[in-house]
Amino acid sequence: MAQDVIIVGGGVIGCSIALRLAEAGLKVTLIERGRAGCEASRAAAGMLSPQSEAHKESPFLDLCLRSRLIYRGFTDHLTEISGVEVDYRDEGVLYVELEGDDSKEVDRWFNWQTRAGLKLERIAESKLRMDEPAVTGSATGAVFIPGDHQVDNRKLMDAVALAARRAGVDVIEGVEVSLFMIERDRVKGVRCGEDKIDAGAVVVAAGCWSGSLLAPLGLNIQTIPARGQMIALKSNTPHVNRVLHSRHCYLVPRRDGRILVGSTIEYAGFTKGVTAGGVGSLIAAAVELVPSLSEFEIVESWSGLRPDTADHMPVMGETGIKNLFVASGHFRNGILLAPATAELMSELILTGRTPDELQPFGIERFFKNPSGA
Ligand code: FAD
Repeated sequence: MAQDVIIVGGGVIGCSIALRLAEAGLKVTLIERGRAGCEASRAAAGMLSPQSEAHKESPFLDLCLRSRLIYRGFTDHLTEISGVEVDYRDEGVLYVELEGDDSKEVDRWFNWQTRAGLKLERIAESKLRMDEPAVTGSATGAVFIPGDHQVDNRKLMDAVALAARRAGVDVIEGVEVSLFMIERDRVKGVRCGEDKIDAGAVVVAAGCWSGSLLAPLGLNIQTIPARGQMIALKSNTPHVNRVLHSRHCYLVPRRDGRILVGSTIEYAGFTKGVTAGGVGSLIAAAVELVPSLSEFEIVESWSGLRPDTADHMPVMGETGIKNLFVASGHFRNGILLAPATAELMSELILTGRTPDELQPFGIERFFKNPSGA
């Protein structure tokens, strides 16, 4: 039987869109070549941090802030349907200034966010010592961002995939979409090897593999893999109370006592893997920020491929082929952006109209001729 919508890719983006569309009453099939959440979405750190890395006002920051605003409701909803707790934590984020940091740069960042109406606070060294006693004695101060939160993204993936199934999404795992069926500039379904599945609409949410899936159609939507390596250290006592950032790394405490240390950004093609250089740089940065971490055991290491684009912005919208949509390129913020992406992409698919918030992220920018000819 023909589906209303096929979603290609079972990462956080594909699963969140699938759930939303199923809840709107559509017949949805999600096709994942591995297991739902086996790629970038599981490898992430789960920070919901639009402010920590923003350096100017932009439609992208607006989108991130919108997603942050609806995040708690999103996770509550997932837990209600799936029964899976996702450890949403709202202790805020501390950006720790270390000796040698350019304090004028931090001032500029602090000032424009304050002018933009975003909440953040300067923390004196003495208060930093009370709040986070494990931080290095050479820290000169910190900036506290109360609105930036975190979620355990592995649990989130378990929750969103199960919630999608319970909402009626047919989740097919271990099957790879190889081709799209197109008739008269309109998508009619997908091919998975010899098998065909008919559908009225198809959403490509295949992370950094989205570009190569669409390329045979003449669509030059390049998604670029940006490898991130991470390690987890194990502590038996609470050691770090909230997400800490320094200029070289971030530390993310989990409820089970692990402290995640991230992350590298490497353009090494589609090769995952953990390297001595990558782990070495993470350990050095982590110990610079919290010296006692040098005594902690490394309990895990992993890597994942973020879906990047040439301008580091997501690509979301119709592809130019009727009812063939793409939702990818979320780069460093796909966990954060999942609820807003699901909301806005579903609106586009259900109404046929592109919401204003999606306009800056359409595919047109990939086809602009730089010469203007
Ligand atoms: P993916 O999770 O990669 O999912 C795509 C899926 O498509 C995969 O499961 C893949 O198997 C499937 N697929 C591909 N091709 C096919 C095919 N032909 N047929 C069927 N299935 C296919 N974001 C944050 O918001 N906060 C963070 O703190 C954060 N930290 C990160 C740290 C690291 C180390 C990394 C790597 C990423 C981090 N990110 C973070 C980014 C975030 O993980 C990604 O932006 C997000 O997971 C992208 O989700 P996705 O669903 O687009 O891609």
